Parts: sequence; structure tokens; C-alpha cells
Amino acid sequence: NKVLLRVENLVKHFPIKKGVLIQKQVGAVRAVDGVSFNIFEGETLGLVGESGCGKSTTGRAILQLHRPTSGSVFFGDKDLVALKGEELRHMRRKMQMIFQDPYASLNPRMTVGEIVGEPMIIHETHKGKEVQDRVEHLLKLVGLNAAFANRYPHEFSGGQRQRIGVARALALEPSLIVCDEPISALDVSVQAQVVNLLEDLQEQLGLTYLFIAHDLSMVRHISDRVAVMYLGVIAELTTRDELYNNPLHPYTQALLSAVPIPDPLAEEKRQRIILQGDVPSPINPPSGCHFRTRCPLATTICAEAKPEFREVSPGHFVACHLV
Ligand code: SF4
Ligand code: MG
Repeated sequence: NKVLLRVENLVKHFPIKKGVLIQKQVGAVRAVDGVSFNIFEGETLGLVGESGCGKSTTGRAILQLHRPTSGSVFFGDKDLVALKGEELRHMRRKMQMIFQDPYASLNPRMTVGEIVGEPMIIHETHKGKEVQDRVEHLLKLVGLNAAFANRYPHEFSGGQRQRIGVARALALEPSLIVCDEPISALDVSVQAQVVNLLEDLQEQLGLTYLFIAHDLSMVRHISDRVAVMYLGVIAELTTRDELYNNPLHPYTQALLSAVPIPDPLAEEKRQRIILQGDVPSPINPPSGCHFRTRCPLATTICAEAKPEFREVSPGHFVACHLV
């Protein structure tokens, strides 16, 4: 498998400042605290974790919508973190984002045609009639009527708006799309339609997805591999089947024990792992393993040393002292 994107020790801290005239940094929200992984060409990598674990910040830091505090994001042989100006702008065309809330992410004062066509005008990839033609092509591609171009976002349902967002994301022919919880805000009845659309588009256009979601049941169907995040770090990353059949990190095991099983017999036999307490604040994460305050298996070493994110079998990465 060819690597499309290589993330190396990515860190994004948001400084907390105090003071009116003279601002002093008094701490930092350690939203992403050192993550490394590859995304292979044509795959869907699911990125899962509870809210506040840093998954959206990771997606935005990859796209350079938040400039990383440190680390690298290699796209081909170029480190996006080191790029600026025109060179970065050019690389950004290849990576787009689909947002969580299709109600908030589309400008209500622009027509659908303007929304979908805007990236082509900003990046000067098409002009005049070409923009209009491509907008119509994109609307059809996402299963909408080309005549919708003259209407406004409020005239459409959540599912249709998400399709408009997808059409806009496709305008510049990206190779990577970061899908930030693209179905969480939608009715259950339309979630499957949007997932199916994303899968069809992936096949037709050879797209690669980083698919962010807050629970494991949402990414199971669409992902080739899954990464589980907890408090700014990746706990475990492996193929979809390996993760669901052979989870090795105590956090993944706990998350999976909460996913309902359709078979009632299996459901009765299985043991739920209930995690104690809440996720600690990313301002002062626990020393050593970030998960140790809630981990049923934690021992003294877990407070003393940060577990390395290690490849324990081919393609299966885990950050835990006991694995
Ligand atoms: Fe639990 Fe320790 Fe493993 Fe962290 S390193 S997951 S605290 S056993
Ligand atoms: Mg796929």
C-alpha cells in the first residue's frame, strides 16, 4: 500500500494566556499531544474518540487549518508544516474537509452554486461558464438536481445540505478528504445514505478518507483501519477486523464492550467494562499514560512512564505498558 500522508509526532497545544495589557502564557490545552500514523492511498482511516480527545484538532492540524505546534505532516515528500504562502495554498487544494454540522457550515447568504463554485474561483482553477458547468456536474455527482444551484441552503434538508458540503469539498479534485463527524448531526434515516454516497465517491474518484467519529459503531462499516484516540494520544491503531476482534488496549476494550451486539445470546454473555470517572482535562493530563486514571489495569509504571506507541504485530500499534 502506498502511503499518501505520513503524520509524525504531531503536537497541537493551544496556549492559555492571562493578563490585560501584558499577556503571559499560564498553561496550554494539550489537544494533540504527539500522534504518529500513516494514511494509505485509497483507504478510509477511522479516527475515533470521546469529545475533546483531540480527533477534530488532529484533522484540522493535518490540513493546516490549525498550524501544528510541532511535528510533521508529509504529503508525498513535502512537509506541510514547513510550507507557507503559495506553496501551502497549492497543497491545500489536494486536501479538503467535510464538516459535522451541515446547518452551520454553509453560508446562508450564498446560493448553492456560489457555495460549490467558490473554491474554484478562489483557487482560479476554472472561470465563468466552466465554474457553472462544473458546479452542475458536482451536484449531479452527489445525487442532487443541477437546478438546485440557484437556490439557498435553508431550502434543503440536513442530508441534502451535507451533499452540498460534499460537492464543495470535491470542487478542487482533492485526493484526501477529512470527514469530521459528517453524519453525527443527521437523522439516523439519512446517515446510511450519506455514508453510501461517500463510499461510492471514494470508488469513483479514488479518494482517501480520514473519517472522524465519536463511537466505534459509526466507523465500523466504512473504515479499512481504525485509530482510537484518548486525551490527545492514539491508544491503538490497526485494521478494522483486527480492532473489533482482537482489541489490545484497555481503552479500546472498554469502548467495544459498550457497542451493542445484534445477537441476544452473545449480548447476554459479554462483560461490560465500565470506566470509572470522567476524561481528565487536556490542560493537565495525567503523567505517564494519559489513560491511567480510568484504566482498570493501571500499575505504578503507568504513572511513571509514557507508554510507547509500538507495533506489536504487523500493522497493529498499541500504546500500553502491559501489551
Ligand atoms: Fe492502562 Fe497502564 Fe496500559 Fe495505560 S499503560 S492503558 S494505564 S495498563
Ligand atoms: Mg472504503
